[in-house]
This record gives sequence, structure tokens and C-alpha cells, in this order.
Amino acid sequence: MKTVPAFWFEPQPWIDGCWHRGTEPCAVRNPATGEILATVARADAALTARAIDSAAVALAAWKECPAAERGEILKRTAGLLISRRDAFARLLTAEQGKPWAQAAGEVDYAASFFQWFGEEARRVQGRIVPHPQAGREFLVEHRPAGVAGLITPWNFPLAQGAKKVAAALAAGCTAVWKPAEVTPLVALALAPLLAEAGLPAGVLQILPGQGSVIGPVLASHPAVAVLSLTGSTATGSGLMAAAAAGIKRVSLELGGNAPFIILPDADLELAANDLVRLKTFVSGQVCVTANRVFVHQSVEGLVIEKVAARLEALRVGNGLADGIDAGPLIHRGACDGVGALVAEAVADGARVVVANHSYLSDSALDTNAFFPPTLLSGVHDSMRLAREEIFGPVIPLLSYRTVADAVERANATPYGLAAYVYGADLARCRAVASRLEVGIVGVNEWRPLKAEIPFGGVKHSGIGAEGGEEGIREFLETRVVSMPKAGIEG
Ligand code: ADP
Repeated sequence: MKTVPAFWFEPQPWIDGCWHRGTEPCAVRNPATGEILATVARADAALTARAIDSAAVALAAWKECPAAERGEILKRTAGLLISRRDAFARLLTAEQGKPWAQAAGEVDYAASFFQWFGEEARRVQGRIVPHPQAGREFLVEHRPAGVAGLITPWNFPLAQGAKKVAAALAAGCTAVWKPAEVTPLVALALAPLLAEAGLPAGVLQILPGQGSVIGPVLASHPAVAVLSLTGSTATGSGLMAAAAAGIKRVSLELGGNAPFIILPDADLELAANDLVRLKTFVSGQVCVTANRVFVHQSVEGLVIEKVAARLEALRVGNGLADGIDAGPLIHRGACDGVGALVAEAVADGARVVVANHSYLSDSALDTNAFFPPTLLSGVHDSMRLAREEIFGPVIPLLSYRTVADAVERANATPYGLAAYVYGADLARCRAVASRLEVGIVGVNEWRPLKAEIPFGGVKHSGIGAEGGEEGIREFLETRVVSMPKAGIEG
């Protein structure tokens, strides 16, 4: 059994390079056991405004700091994170619930964004465009947008922050980051590393607190130029409306309803393995996880058999214990929500093939926060769990007869984030992938997201992108100087 590490940070707001007394004490709990990990002093509206004001002051020097220097600080942060992987992973598991191995993977993933945007900082290049009039030229340049407001969810408390923080800082913006209410610790834990890496005070402020308190201040403060949120579609829509009055830019990563299409010629061992890995990853509490599994009717029986065997073998429990495959959901309320979706589907004719309750044997757990990894067959498109994000370890199988039908049904949702296609004929996989209305498709791959590529949704799943060359552009504004060409005469 691994232990919760001793804290190297304080559970309160980080502003101007030091800890500040917050106003509202709030307990942060380990979802697996219910144990209180810390009482965090959260930021209120007044402290948020103050943090934004001083991020605006810090902007003047940070945007003039050479890009290579900004990049070095970010790359040093990546190195520091990797060197402290184990402590960060234990903290992440304690706070979020995911098994230690997944948490360690998240630390590496977060570090990859600091590394990537550390490199990208030097590649923000403008251009000179020929002017249609003689003797003049255009200079096109990309400038930091200003102060960025960053709001992140609880499923990847470190990596979602790293994606935004690294891109904003690389662009030359200063930032105010509000982590999710239930997972502020790992965000605060990052502050001393950034300071150690050489980040000047005030360039990143980290404010634990409530979305409904901090969000409106970020959305209305005149110094904030960009808002970047990863969260639910309802929160994104509300933030966009709040940002409209100040004509602020928004970058939104929102909900999904990903189809996972198993073609008739798919390698069913691979498809079953990857599907179970995908749905046990953070216990299915991931916006890109498979939400509807479309299986060709000719292979449905075999898929049920293979997926059921894998689900039954999973060890579900405390993520700090050795050999655990899946942890709890974030809290009891989340379990109630998933339970209601499953119960409605069963009442409507779906069948529970497997429900793995292996966590019940551990008396040290708060078993109300666990949901059994479940396989459901006989799911229909009209059921609520096929229309809404499940956000739990439930695999709903929907049968199809023709590939065209599967594609049409896969697209019949307002969401458009991720999709998965499993098949042997790569030309057909590609044809299917190109018809899916989503931001990213994994072909015979369950986790295609990497720092090197842009990730962002279409339709109600979002606006803008994170990662890749595109990620930094969310925090840049383009401007043009039209000027005469200088002569050489003295
Ligand atoms: P989830 O359902 O995954 O918790 P939310 O959209 O509720 O997703 O939360 C994602 C993030 O958005 C969290 O940091 C949360 O505090 C924040 N948030 C919630 N309400 C608002 C709001 N009105 N304005 C800005 N941020 C908000």
C-alpha cells in the first residue's frame, strides 16, 4: 500500500509567488476512503480580482522575456515533475481516486506539455507580407493576448492544468488558474516546482475555489483577455455567455459522447482489450471515453464474451493499493448519477452481462463512492445513457447491421469530441474515420491524445484546441503593422 506524501506546498491560494490566506475553508477528501486529506482555504471574489490585477502587472515583464528563456523555465518544470513523479502520483491518487499507475502516467503526460510548449515558445514567428503598393510592407506578428483565465476539471487535475498553463505561459501570457473544487491539491503542489524552475512571481496565480465564485470574476475582469475552460457543455455555454459582454476570447474543451465502432473484420482481442482499458481509465470519467459501443451484429456474441471476461478479472479498489485496475468515482453523487442511467436502461430492456463488485471485499473503503465496472447489452440509441455522457465504467453495446448505419448513428449526437474505429481493412477504417463528426479519431488505438497534436471538439464539444502547434495560438493575438520600407540614405 502506498502512502499519501507529506505536503511540500500549502493548501491555500498561490499569488505573486507566495501562499495567501484564503477565506473559505473546505475539506478535500480521498474519494476511496472518505478520509480528509486537507482543509483548503479557497479564494473569494475579492482575492480573485486581486490575483488578476497582479497578473496584469506581471504581464509587462513576462511578455518581454525572451521566448527561449520562457521555454527553458517550462522545460525545467517538465524535468522537475518527472523527477518527483512518485510523490505527485500518490497525491493525485489520494485526491482523485485513479490507480497509482494511471496517476504516474498523468504526471508524465503533464510533463510532456511543459516540454512541448517549452519548445514551441521559440516558434512563435511572424512574417513579412509584400504590400500591393510600392515602397511599403506588412509585418504580421503574434503577440501574447494578455492575462489568461484557466479553469480545469477534476478528472485530470494535473494534466488539464499543464496543457493550459504551459501553452499560456509559452505564449507570453500571465495566467490565473482555478482548479476544480474537489481536486485543488495537485495544482497547488505544482506552484513550488514552477518557482524552482525560475518562474517569476505573479506570472501564474493558482486559486482554489468555487467555479460559481471565481468564474464570473474571470469572465468580467477587464484585464482578462482569454478564458480557457475544460468542463461540461453547460458550464462552457454559461462561461461563453458571461465572456460575451467583455468580448473575451474563449477556448472550450467540453463534453463528449464518443462512438467506439467495432467493424466486422476487427481484431476482437485488441478491440476488447482496448475497450476495457479505455473504460477503466479514470473509471470512465473522461470526456473522450467510449460512450456508445457500436458492434456489428455478426461479432456481437464474441465481443460480449471477450469484454465480459476482461471486466470480471478487474481488481477494483483503493488506487494506492498494489495491483488495482480501477478506483472509485469522484464522489457518491457521481455514482448515483451513473446508477440512475443504468437503471433506466435496464428498465427499458438492456441486460447487465457483468457488474464487477470486487471492491466490496475491502472494508476500509467508502463503497458508496465505487461503481461496478458494468457491461450492458441490448442498448438502444434512444436510451438516456446513449444520449448523455455516462462518466462511469459502463460499457453499453449497441448492435448494427451496416457500416453506413453505424456511422450515421455515431454522428446523431450534438457532441463531437472523440471516436474510435477498430477494423482490419485500414482503407475502410480511414473512410469511416473521415465521415465521423469529431475532433479526434483513434483507429485501432484507445488513447491517441499526445502533446504533439491539436485536440479539440466540434459541435457542442468545444471551440479551439489544446496541444500541437495550435495550442499556443489560443493565447496569441495577431496584429499587422503596415509601414514604409526604410531607405539606405542617411
Ligand atoms: P464537471 O461536471 O466535470 O465537474 P464542471 O463544468 O462543473 O464539470 O466543472 C469544470 C470546472 O468548471 C470546475 O473547475 C468548476 O469549478 C468550473 N465551473 C463550474 N461552474 C462555473 C462557472 N459558472 N464559471 C466558471 N467556471 C465554473
